Amino acid sequence: MKVSAIIVAAGAGSRAGGELPKQYNRLLGKPVLRWSIEALLRAGVEEVVVAIGAGQDEFFRAAASALPVRAVQGGATRTDSVRAALSAISDTDVILIHDAARPGLSETTIRALIEAVRSGAIGVAPALPAADALQRVGANNVVVEEIARENLLRVQTPQAFNAAALRAAYAAIGNGTFADDLAVMRARGAETKLIAGDPRLMKITYPGDLEMLARLLDDRFVSVGQGIDAHRFGGGDHVTLCGVRIPHEKGLLGHSDADAGWHALVDAILGALGEGDIGAHFPPSDPQWKGADSEKFLRHALHLADAAGATISHVDVTLVCERPKIGPHREAMRARTAAVLDLPIDRVSVKATTTERMGFLGREEGLAAFATATLLRRSS
Ligand code: MG
Repeated sequence: MKVSAIIVAAGAGSRAGGELPKQYNRLLGKPVLRWSIEALLRAGVEEVVVAIGAGQDEFFRAAASALPVRAVQGGATRTDSVRAALSAISDTDVILIHDAARPGLSETTIRALIEAVRSGAIGVAPALPAADALQRVGANNVVVEEIARENLLRVQTPQAFNAAALRAAYAAIGNGTFADDLAVMRARGAETKLIAGDPRLMKITYPGDLEMLARLLDDRFVSVGQGIDAHRFGGGDHVTLCGVRIPHEKGLLGHSDADAGWHALVDAILGALGEGDIGAHFPPSDPQWKGADSEKFLRHALHLADAAGATISHVDVTLVCERPKIGPHREAMRARTAAVLDLPIDRVSVKATTTERMGFLGREEGLAAFATATLLRRSS
């Protein structure tokens, strides 16, 4: 059973505020129109045609870049736009028609609509009950009539149709104009039905709607990772900690530059991403990491975070050693770490402690580092 979709995006309206037509505004970093296209494709819809407004080709190309969708020129009314897109849709079984101004489209809703048509419905749409009292007003907002809200539903999109029945209905209505496509079907006497809607399918209409929707759709969550590292002291005349070279009577032994501070930090970032540990990404057995500058490892962790759509909110590194004294170098370490992670300095903490001369750290056999990284991630 082939499923196709039409997205009506021809509006020039900027009633919702902003200079762009609302379907091209950015919602959580992504154009409003792109949300719907991605949701439809994710749900397995095979063909998506977007009806765009005159002069919106550039906006469309930017919003839909790299996605397998086509655009057609929309018309003066919603009905005209759907008519234009229908003529561009190939032979198919189910057609979904959706408003670009409703970007909060879930796969669950799409699948439920397709299933309803598959089970024999001719036309079906999601809808929500009217929770508020409904009153009709006359001039100056004077109430002239109460309207019983029982059996009144607020209809959303996408609306899903048996393709043959939809084409027949559009052929029959001539040049008529309708509020939506369920109305087109009903004008032909077809039985249409409603299924459970979704508050996130709200239509961006008024100023403030975009912000409200951003709150509803924001799926970011806080993820905290921890990292621990230790290196043994050996011969040498300096140590490198959090990217800063510190003169010392001993060096730190390790395959790379033995920067325990940044190694712990890399593990903390990897931990927050669920990406394993530093050894898995940079095996000590691999000669290319011999003597490596640990900045490479830190940049790699940052790259993985970027690729996952995650942002680093804050990092905290604790160095544990008797000597060298960390205090005089603390600010330089913060600055180096902040520079590599491209973070403001107040989001980077470096601190130090000793073990009161106890244990291997107290005996100055080695140095240890502990780190946490707090990331904002997106649900996958
Ligand atoms: Mg290490």
